[in-house]
Amino acid sequence: MQPFVYSSLPQTVRFGHGTLAGLGAELARLGIARALLLTTPEQSALAAQAMAAADGRIAGHFHGAAMHTPVTVTEAALAMLKDVQADGLVAIGGGSTTGLAKALNLRSGLPQVVIPTTYAGSEMTPILGETAEGRKVTQRDPRLLPGSVIYDVDLTYSLPPHLSAVSGMNAMAHAVEALYARDANPVIDLMAAESVASLAKTLPAIIADPLDAEARGQGLYGAWLAGICLGNVGMALHHKLCHVLGGSFDLPHAETHCVVLPYALACNAPFAEKAVQRLSAALGHADPARALWDLAGRLNAPRSLAALGLAESALERAADIAAENPYWNPRPLNRDLLLAVLRQAHAGQAPVAPQPASPDGMKT
Ligand code: NAD
Repeated sequence: MQPFVYSSLPQTVRFGHGTLAGLGAELARLGIARALLLTTPEQSALAAQAMAAADGRIAGHFHGAAMHTPVTVTEAALAMLKDVQADGLVAIGGGSTTGLAKALNLRSGLPQVVIPTTYAGSEMTPILGETAEGRKVTQRDPRLLPGSVIYDVDLTYSLPPHLSAVSGMNAMAHAVEALYARDANPVIDLMAAESVASLAKTLPAIIADPLDAEARGQGLYGAWLAGICLGNVGMALHHKLCHVLGGSFDLPHAETHCVVLPYALACNAPFAEKAVQRLSAALGHADPARALWDLAGRLNAPRSLAALGLAESALERAADIAAENPYWNPRPLNRDLLLAVLRQAHAGQAPVAPQPASPDGMKT
């Protein structure tokens, strides 16, 4: 047995159907009387539902949350937070809205109640990625972890099939990389395997019937577990590439994860035997990278960076940026290998482990 370190994070999670109704009680428990409510413009209409559930404990509504947490948006929300003299934050939405809550928490120290409506998993992490001047900078601080999370399965029915598919694949990426993390541990391994199995089983059912209560419940459960994986152990090649593609090329977050995952896993698979074993069992396929690529196809989800609108000429620069800051990965990385993975992901053919031109990154 490998030695390991396991820390659990201080957080209250409520999970179920109709749990939004308990928002007022949760705000009262936390001593929040004047929360600032956060949504994206697209989910503004949800604000009325949240306010009705908040027992008069919402002081204002900021509806400008945006992908990749632009600092300019955070500054506008911060001005409103001060105007309404908020004493807490309520975020209802996907990772973009949760990101804004974290960015405001960082600047104000106010407590957060997060009500996730996608499978992104940010609510389970002490991580914030902020974008300014075309670069996304990520930080990790235990204080960023939302203290209270309300999972209401009913709020996920409206997530369209396309977003459900890519967001679900985004969640799976957290679980996949957790299995070969440098700081992996047996508790997170269990959650990661359960998450992958749960999402792989339920995503096709969700796409077939977005109102399938059982599938939606299992899907959100799998996403919750994936979020715990993301929050507790380090991510590697896959997350690095998605971070670069989202932060510097403005590609959509969940779609990018969906495209890159099979290629990152195929690259790392020869160097991550145990992870491959667990993933093979969870996915019922000897080649988990191929299984994920097939799954994306069954979900009608994008499978190439070209389909996301990335020009082939951008790949060299993406490889440069990804190679700039060295980071741990089970397979040693260099620019050639990063470029090879990016080229595969751009073309969108069935994933195979790339062989780089230079000797670093080859199995020894
Ligand atoms: P998102 O939050 O941008 O949501 C995408 C769109 O779907 C938005 O228009 C949103 O309003 C809408 N939407 C969300 N839930 C819906 C629902 N139930 N019904 C209908 N529409 C709905 O997308 P996302 O993929 O959840 O989050 C992406 C962002 O989260 C990125 O900025 C990413 O970097 C960040 N993120 C951060 C972490 C972290 O740990 N820091 C983890 C995961 C994602």
